Amino acid sequence: LERQLRQAQKMEALGRMAGGIAHDFNNLLTIINSWAELLTGEPGQTTRTQRGMAQIREAGNKATALTRQLLAFTRHQIVERQPLNLNDRVTDIVELMKRVIGEDIQLALTLDPALGRVKADPGQIEQVVMNLVVNARDAMPHGGRLDVETKSVSIAHSDPLWPNPLTPGPYVTLAVRDTGCGMDADTVAHVFEPFFTTKELGKGTGLGLSTVYGIVRQSGGTVGIESEPGHGTTFTIYLPCIDEDSDSPRPVAQPRNIIEQ
Ligand code: ADP
Repeated sequence: LERQLRQAQKMEALGRMAGGIAHDFNNLLTIINSWAELLTGEPGQTTRTQRGMAQIREAGNKATALTRQLLAFTRHQIVERQPLNLNDRVTDIVELMKRVIGEDIQLALTLDPALGRVKADPGQIEQVVMNLVVNARDAMPHGGRLDVETKSVSIAHSDPLWPNPLTPGPYVTLAVRDTGCGMDADTVAHVFEPFFTTKELGKGTGLGLSTVYGIVRQSGGTVGIESEPGHGTTFTIYLPCIDEDSDSPRPVAQPRNIIEQ
């Protein structure tokens, strides 16, 4: 327990430090970006200078997007959990994300009509789906197939679920399956760690899946991963169903930190 506590404190300190740096960095970037913008319009520039200015602006914009993501990650967000149907949320978000997914990726949405409700924050669910879908798209740069599926499942005592054991009972699952590059075992072991990324600078922050994991654990669920290099990946979110009689989720096991393992 002490080790877990130390780990949690370390993560919190790291988060605070990253947030502080992102904030100051953002202010400095504002100066760089506005001067780059201003000087771009100056008359009498050589082609070389113009090209250089364009690159400064582009890099500045990427850096701003990165610090924004960092700030969103570290900022304390107000969470309001309410009973909701995952099918409705998923349909809305996936519809919104069609443009992001692109035409090279074949999208299939399969919804279980008899899905139980879960207690979750709609904004957080949105974040979860968006992060998983963006990752799936990034894993398929040459196109492929993206399956998003909801299902009702029952977890029995005999089901050992990696990475966290779940309290047996009814759950809702959301699976996001891609036919992309897949991950080797070493990558799978690190994906939930904050700042772990294999993407090039400016493309990934390594915060997406640690956010997903944090949200799902806080809601009493877990995240499963199946992946095969060269073939694809499936992320499956498990969320406990509401006991409709008492309108609150069944008691679930205390969250354990994945980084511990
Ligand atoms: P980011 O997307 O910014 O890199 P994430 O935390 O979302 O951060 O993901 C961490 C890493 O996990 C990615 O850089 C990638 O290596 C791996 N990953 C996540 N999703 C997938 C996927 N669907 N297919 C292959 N690799 C993935």
